Amino acid sequence: MPNKHRLQTTDPEIAEFLEKELARQEQGLEMIPSENYVSKAVLEALGSILTNKYSEGYPGRRYYGGNQFIDQIENLAISRAQKLFGAEHINVQPYSGSPANLAVYTALLKVGDKIMGMDLACGGHLTHGYKVSASGKFFTSVSYYVNEKGLLDYDAILEAAKKEKPRLIIAGASAYPRLIDFAKFAEIAKEVGAYFMADIAHIAGLIIGGVHPSPLPHADVVTTTTHKTLRGPRGAIIMSKIEDPLDPGGKKNLAQKIDSAVFPGLQGGPHNHQTAAIAVALKEAGTSEFKNYAKQIVKNAKTLAETLLEEGLELVTGGTDNHLMLIDLTNLGIGGKQAETALDLAGITVNKNVIPFDQRKPMDPSGIRLGTPALTARGMKEKEMKIIGHLISQVLKNINNEDIIRQTKKAVEELTAMFPIYKKMIHSNFPLLID
Ligand SMILES: *Cc1c(COP(=O)(O)O)cnc(C)c1O
Repeated sequence: MPNKHRLQTTDPEIAEFLEKELARQEQGLEMIPSENYVSKAVLEALGSILTNKYSEGYPGRRYYGGNQFIDQIENLAISRAQKLFGAEHINVQPYSGSPANLAVYTALLKVGDKIMGMDLACGGHLTHGYKVSASGKFFTSVSYYVNEKGLLDYDAILEAAKKEKPRLIIAGASAYPRLIDFAKFAEIAKEVGAYFMADIAHIAGLIIGGVHPSPLPHADVVTTTTHKTLRGPRGAIIMSKIEDPLDPGGKKNLAQKIDSAVFPGLQGGPHNHQTAAIAVALKEAGTSEFKNYAKQIVKNAKTLAETLLEEGLELVTGGTDNHLMLIDLTNLGIGGKQAETALDLAGITVNKNVIPFDQRKPMDPSGIRLGTPALTARGMKEKEMKIIGHLISQVLKNINNEDIIRQTKKAVEELTAMFPIYKKMIHSNFPLLID
């Protein structure tokens, strides 16, 4: 009997869009490096009755009653994150990565203080001081850059930091295909008397898998999203030291400053369904299966990069050490916008991206960014990466050839059919949305 409370009955329009989006996620090759597929267990927690509850405050110190189970959920998320990353203090309440970063800035800085992050065109994130972001509006922001090979140059960063004397140095990126030396950044910050924050939004899962060095214990504060390589729900975690290195013995320690910046500084009630789903994702991330997954992401990225290079394509820095790569399209005579659209038509989802010292405009830059986390979550390995590398190269070299694009789309659908994700997920029983 149809259940009148189910989505399909209550709201067939939204149900239909959900079905279509599910089909898109099933049938396409999802290669945006910041995206992933969460497990059904994570979805179940996220789509749960926990969304009904208000719990402003922190475990044991709430402004509302009835939080005995919410407290246990949040404490479990905290202890799991602590175990995985080894941080002294954890806050799991930030709604997402951008608000988490803003919380750190408001915790540590006064309006107008100087922050130094990686230039956006070099791979940095908007929230690391880009002028249209709150991070660049409320704080004085300066950038460091990559060198002509596209690599971080720590001597140059030290020089820039000595000259600019920022109060906070941020390491971390959204489009940098190589490893980041967090220990070096910590030394630089120490030398100039700045706080050091590492933003591991993209690479948290790789760090857990041991395929990227960890910023702990080097950084004073570490932020991460939970929905990228970590394979959790959209959300974020802030980790920090307890003592404040620039304000020892101050009225509040560093951990207390972070907590009060998140709530009541920037947010109201935490998203408890999200916290529960983060806890589930962290439990999954503690398994050996997850560590193998993280290792496979990097193996897949390296194989894909090698295949693209063999096909004659150019990659920023000549390859990758992590989960992503940037194709520099300049030698093909096409722009990122055109490349993104053609690949999309072929069922391959990537995003156009600026490359270091890009000669073209941000809305139609010289590069595309692609990564392997989502494909690897489906179970794809080196063999599939070689096929996919070939398909991508075919499309990019024949950008206006509709036959090639059609053939590629067919090949993509055949390939993805062998790696199903959430079959029959949507139209099942309330409230879990999964079978
Ligand atoms: C994705 C990302 C963020 C922001 O996360 P949102 O959840 O999209 O707000 C912050 N920093 C870096 C380095 C990122 O890649």
